[in-house]
Amino acid sequence: MKVVHDYPPLYAEIAAAFPIKHRSVIFAWGDAIYNPHSLVLNDALRAHEDVHRMQHESYEGGPEAWWRRYIADKAFRLDQEVPAHAAEYMVHAVLADSRKRRRYLLSQIARKLSSATYGPMVGQRKALELLRKELKMEDKK
Ligand SMILES: [Zn+2]
Repeated sequence: MKVVHDYPPLYAEIAAAFPIKHRSVIFAWGDAIYNPHSLVLNDALRAHEDVHRMQHESYEGGPEAWWRRYIADKAFRLDQEVPAHAAEYMVHAVLADSRKRRRYLLSQIARKLSSATYGPMVGQRKALELLRKELKMEDKK
C-alpha cells in the first residue's frame, strides 16, 4: 500500500466520532495508508491496514461508504476490526519465540481491539474470545 503523510478524507467526521485528536493514528483508505504523524509502519500495522484495503475493495461504494458505515455502526466496526487485528497478531506471532510470548501478544492485541480509540466496541475478554475464534485457536484455559 502507498503511504500518504497527510490526514485521510473524512478526517473531520472520523475525529468527531473517535477520541483520536492529537493521537498517533493511521487510516486505511483503499490502497493508501494515511499517516499524518509519519509513524514508522511495521509489518504488523501494514498487515492490519491491508485487511482494511481488501474490505474497502469489496465494499459497495468503496472506502467512503465503508468509512461512513464504520463510523456509524459499532457492530460493523467490530466485524471489520477483528480480522484486521488477527492479521496484525499473526505478524507478531511468527516472530515470537514462545507460547508465553504469543499469549502475551494476543492479550495486547485484544486490549487494543477493546480500547476507547474504537468507540469502544467490546470488552477485553470478549475481544480475546473473538480473536481466538478468528484465528481458529482452540479454547485452552
Ligand atoms: Zn483497523
